[in-house]
Parts: sequence; structure tokens; C-alpha cells
Amino acid sequence: MERIYLDHNATTPLFQEVREIMALSLKNNFGNPSSTHYFGQKSRAAVEYARESVAKLINASPAEIIFTGGGTESDNTAIFGAVAASGVSEPHIITTVIEHPALLEACNCLEKRGCSITKIGADKYGRIRTEDVADSITSNTVLVSVMMANNELGTLQPLKEIAEALSETDILFHTDAVQCGGKHNIDVRELGVDLLSLSGHKMNGPKGVGVLYVKRGVIIPPYVMGGHQEKGIRAGTENVAAIEGLGAASEIWRNNYELAEKIKRLRDFFEKEVLENISGAVVNGSTEYRVCNTSNISFDNVDGGALVINLDLKGVCASSGSACFSGLAEPSRVLTALGCSPERAKGSVRFSLGINLEKKDISRAVTVISKAVHEIRSI
Ligand code: PLP
Repeated sequence: MERIYLDHNATTPLFQEVREIMALSLKNNFGNPSSTHYFGQKSRAAVEYARESVAKLINASPAEIIFTGGGTESDNTAIFGAVAASGVSEPHIITTVIEHPALLEACNCLEKRGCSITKIGADKYGRIRTEDVADSITSNTVLVSVMMANNELGTLQPLKEIAEALSETDILFHTDAVQCGGKHNIDVRELGVDLLSLSGHKMNGPKGVGVLYVKRGVIIPPYVMGGHQEKGIRAGTENVAAIEGLGAASEIWRNNYELAEKIKRLRDFFEKEVLENISGAVVNGSTEYRVCNTSNISFDNVDGGALVINLDLKGVCASSGSACFSGLAEPSRVLTALGCSPERAKGSVRFSLGINLEKKDISRAVTVISKAVHEIRSI
């Protein structure tokens, strides 16, 4: 059975060129980039080339790019680093209820250590209001962290507006842009952020490698300690092959903007077909402010978890926002935060598209989804 992969927000397949570059890197660039001899300097050059590629993708300068062990580590480094750098004895962080656990759990940990955290709610489309951020600022606020696009809904946030609201303050502004890497234009200067997280495996690069953009002049202490690598912010011998893979993926996305346009056309076609062919289907989140590949749909009288299993058996891979704890499916935390009823939240499935898909795959997926929804409803 030929399977159709519609779960690119969970992870993405490697670009073929990335696979080839990584294989060559594993063979040829084994040297430690910190070694001063030939082999070390060959690896160093490869890491610096990748740094330039990532910098170009987000309009940063290479000196502002720190390689990390993934999106989670980038988020943790930003949050813990911003608080430690502030020197404020009772720091306050403003974030949102719809952030990824990589962010929220770091904040929860800091809360136990005496920080106060304000988690702003979202409107029914999953959008954060800039006024809510501005109204939450206190004299102790050291950091605002608002994700660029939500992983369940794809909803984009008004980052530029929030940065403007913070412009007269010395509060650091971080964004988790993990779900935007490659497929959405990221210009750190235009956005006005101080810190930004990316992850290799969400942009057809490898797993276990990420980026923290740290704006020139912003000083944060290391989160991982024990060496001078990555400007002292992230100690540890660099994962050269993964970094080269992430650099190559950045270059491919930067030189092929039409890839994102194609994915958007397919996503819009997918959504139109689902809504036209399946009764009781409704799109969650904003359709106006949304990253190009994501479609979160609730189906009346259908359990999203059961639908995902049924689809998998039929060769379509998607994801349900609900988390299964001790056999009980909890409705998605994000959809609940938007004010969706528990039934609508439990009936939701996240379809996330990516490279290697064609219109015929989407048509076949819609036929399969229609059949699966019908089967579940008739039980
Ligand atoms: N932030 C967001 C929005 C994500 O979707 C994810 C992964 O799903 C992460 C952070 C964590 O990234 P990583 O898997 O690279 O640790």
C-alpha cells in the first residue's frame, strides 16, 4: 500500500540533497571543529558555511546564529537564558496558553523557582491580541515569548505588532518559529525579535539539531555548559553532519520559495474538497493568518483519535490533537483554550502537508478520509 504522509508538523522527510550532503559529511567531515589541524578546520568550514545559509534564510548575520540540539533546547536556552541575564530578583514572563510544551514547561519550571508567568489567552481563531501583551507588562517583565505559528492550528501571530509594543522597553522578545522554518518567510529584522527558535527536522533537515537566533547585543548565559562552542552559549562538540544538513535544507528553502506556494495550493485544495465532500466538517483556527501547510479539521460525531487510527490502517498518516492519558482521550489543550466545545476538540484531526505530495495524493486522501468518517459515524 502506498502511504500518504500528512503529518509534516510532527516531522518531515529529509530533502534528498540533505541526505546526500549528510552522508558525505559523515564520511569526510569527521574532524572536531575545535581542532586546529586540517581535519578540524575542514569541519569548522562546513559548520560556518551552514551558519551562513541559516542566517541568510532568516535575514540574520552568521554571528547571530547558535546551533543547538533542537527546537526544545533552543526554547529552553532562550527562556532560562533571558531570565538569568535579566538579573531581576522576581522576574516576570509573558507567554501564551497555546505555546508548545518546550516553552510552557520551561516556564512552569521557572515559576517553581520564583518567577511569575502570565499566560495570555487566544481568540476563537487562535490569535493573540497585542493589547493583551501590552496590558500584562509589569516593571518586572523581562521576557515576552509568543510562538510564530501554532503547531496544531498553524495560526500565525502578530509578532511585528507585539515587537512594536515592546520597542520602548528593554524586555526581550522571543518567538518559537519552529513551525515556520523554510515554509514561511522569516525576517528577524522586520519582525523585531531578539531571540528566535528553529528546528532542523521540521524543515526537511535532520532531527536533533536546531537554531537559536540571538540578536547582536543580546547577551544570554549558556544553558548547556562545559565548552566554548557556539559563542559559549551552547557547549559541546558540534554535530557537524546534522548542522550541514540543516544548512543545506535552509539553502533549498531559500532558493525555492515556490515550494511553499505549491504546498499552500495543495492545502487549500485539500480543505475545499474535505468541506465539500464530508458533512459536519469545520476548520479550526484562522484561515486568514495561517502557515501554508496546516489544516486542522473537526468532524461532528467522530473521535479524532479513532479517525487517525482508521486513516492509518487505510494508508493516510495524520495526527490527532488529543492526548491519550490512561486510556482516556483528553481534548486538545489548544482547541480547548480557543473555547471549542470538548466534542469539537475531541473530533479534531491535524493534517499537515509538505514536499513530495501531488494533487492526486490529496484527492486519494480525501476519498479515504470521507470513507473513514462514514465508517466511524455508522458504528
Ligand atoms: N516548538 C514547536 C512549535 C514544535 O512544534 C516543536 C516540535 O513539535 C518544538 C518546539 C520542539 O522541537 P524539537 O522536536 O526539535 O525539539
